Amino acid sequence: MTADAKDRVFEIIKLEEKRQSEGLELIPSENYVSANVLKAMGSVLTNKYSEGYPGKRYYGGNENIDQIESLAIDRAKQLFNADHANVQPHSGANANEAVYYAWCQPGDTILAMSLPAGGHLTHGSPVTRSAKVYNFVGYGVTEDGDIDYDELEKLAHEHQPQVILVGYSAFMKIPDFDRVAAVAKDVAEESGHEVLLMADMAHVAGLIAGGAHPNPLDHGFQVMTTTTHKTLRGPRGGLILSKGVVGNPLKKVEHTLENIPTLIDRAVFPGTQGGPLEHVIAAKAVAFEEDLQPEFHDYARMIVENANVLAEELKRLGFVLQGDGTENHLILVNVKQSFGIDGKFYEAALDKVGLTLNANALPSDAGGAFRPSGVRLGTPAMTTRGLGQQEMMRVAEWMKRVVEICIEASDEEALDGYESELEAIREEVRKLALDFPVPGIKPQDR
Ligand SMILES: *Cc1c(COP(=O)(O)O)cnc(C)c1O
Repeated sequence: MTADAKDRVFEIIKLEEKRQSEGLELIPSENYVSANVLKAMGSVLTNKYSEGYPGKRYYGGNENIDQIESLAIDRAKQLFNADHANVQPHSGANANEAVYYAWCQPGDTILAMSLPAGGHLTHGSPVTRSAKVYNFVGYGVTEDGDIDYDELEKLAHEHQPQVILVGYSAFMKIPDFDRVAAVAKDVAEESGHEVLLMADMAHVAGLIAGGAHPNPLDHGFQVMTTTTHKTLRGPRGGLILSKGVVGNPLKKVEHTLENIPTLIDRAVFPGTQGGPLEHVIAAKAVAFEEDLQPEFHDYARMIVENANVLAEELKRLGFVLQGDGTENHLILVNVKQSFGIDGKFYEAALDKVGLTLNANALPSDAGGAFRPSGVRLGTPAMTTRGLGQQEMMRVAEWMKRVVEICIEASDEEALDGYESELEAIREEVRKLALDFPVPGIKPQDR
């Protein structure tokens, strides 16, 4: 930051750098980008209008922008073995919206994991715009936390959806993509219409890129959407990958699965977005190059290993986990069942010691979204900072100590009476956190 940046905004950014440095990020959808990703995002590319696609723009002066967007596209395709990549979606939600718009007519049916089971808001929550346009049908999870494939199959035959969507924000198993692909094939034969297989891998895309999770595009899925800022460790944004024939996005094409790459391009622009954020696309390109390196494979493997160690240690300390553990980076703890405290209360107490996570409803949660019984946590951000198995044990221990304070305090207001106990833990967390610097924040800037 330059010395002449006097705006109050830059003082607040400093405070945020301090918060990120002194605390530990357990939110599974967050991560820390590299200094190079930050640099690309803060570049003059933000000055440029570039509606359209490389070589097909509505404005002049895009010769450099075209090269940058093409690099981002090529790298994304390579990462996910895709025929096509659209790097323009401003967010994961926009990416999903564009895919629905590319393939569906109003009133068409989309079969997706229901929100309480672990699905995402954009998969048909009544509060969203897409839920007013399309007919979402939700499948659930079984007692042991896996997709209820029998239910999925039954609903698919009953409703004959245009899209079957596998994706989630709170699900700890590895999906059986082949099994879902077989269901889509049966429904297509029965109904006489093509069924789009869509995977929303917003949470696990980095694990896929790093070889620690199967790739839905290798298992019969035509489309994969993702965010670029979660395990992929890039700037905030969205990305759509697909299999099929790549055509000219300025020309109309027939509505077939084979044409899905072109239908998606047209649905992103001009269908649902205006000018792309080329500074962010540049940062995506930088992140994708990092993701292509062998070290990123080590990173992906470490995320899963750390999640496993943390899950096992939490279990040993009496925490009840949804699905009894994890196969990815995510852990969902039933704190109500474990210790009789609710998720929001526990989240607030952990915040006071510098451990950041979020309260989360469990499948068939009596507390609902307002007072959920669980908390969701994960290891991508901590693993980026270099924390390993030993540190996971300490995190679990701190989490247990905070539980004990919560049990004694019994409600949020009463936590004020436990300031010294909480501050003691906070100090231990701060000390460990400072030993593992946040990439992109220079120690002298803290
Ligand atoms: C995070 C997430 C999204 C939304 O991403 P935004 O960039 O916040 O819009 C979509 N789908 C899933 C499964 C997610 O986890």
